[in-house]
Amino acid sequence: MVTAYGTEQRWPSHQKAYWREPLERARAAGWSLHYIDAPHLWGVVTCPGPEGEQHSFQVDCTASGAEFFAIEARKRVDRCKHGVLDGPPLKGHHYDKALSKLERAQELLAEAEDMLNRGETRRSALDSFEEMTATAQLTALDAAQDLELLLEQALAAEQSEPIDPHVVADLLRRGRAYVAQARRLAARVGQVSRAERVRVSAGELHRWCGRLEERLERLNPGASRADT
Ligand SMILES: [Zn+2]
Repeated sequence: MVTAYGTEQRWPSHQKAYWREPLERARAAGWSLHYIDAPHLWGVVTCPGPEGEQHSFQVDCTASGAEFFAIEARKRVDRCKHGVLDGPPLKGHHYDKALSKLERAQELLAEAEDMLNRGETRRSALDSFEEMTATAQLTALDAAQDLELLLEQALAAEQSEPIDPHVVADLLRRGRAYVAQARRLAARVGQVSRAERVRVSAGELHRWCGRLEERLERLNPGASRADT
């Protein structure tokens, strides 16, 4: 059941101490309370402004972070021009203490957030490093397979039928592109031993490309550059 409380009445006391001062301040300024007393919603407080222009705030029972909302609510009361505030703002000893604790909490949270950001950055760096290593290895493997096929074709060609030099040249180009890709990836792999492994196999494949290009060139002069 919702109970309405005006400014002249005594409002129910909130179980959380940090809500009491802002609520008392709102009451003193002519705000009214719709006391709901639901498990999560304590009530809604509304300023005495004309309908449609009224300010209000919700009061939770024990929600986490409610201290912040209590302070925000107090600011809302102070900003509202509809109410009547007499005397200087209530600025008790407890309020100041709560405020400084909140500030400290804010600093600690910012620090924690910073640390989390750093951790996440490091983790995502590690993830992409793992990914890059895997890709580099796959790329090198792909290149090796393509080049092996090419080698077989070339050998078969040398022995029997004529080969299509453009097909071979195309395979070589793709092989070279893979090697270049693997090398670029290796340059970004942070772990020296892994990067080295990729670089070594990329180097071998690179030399292999060169040897095959020479053979293609001997078989079909100009073919390795035919359609580049
Ligand atoms: Zn207002």
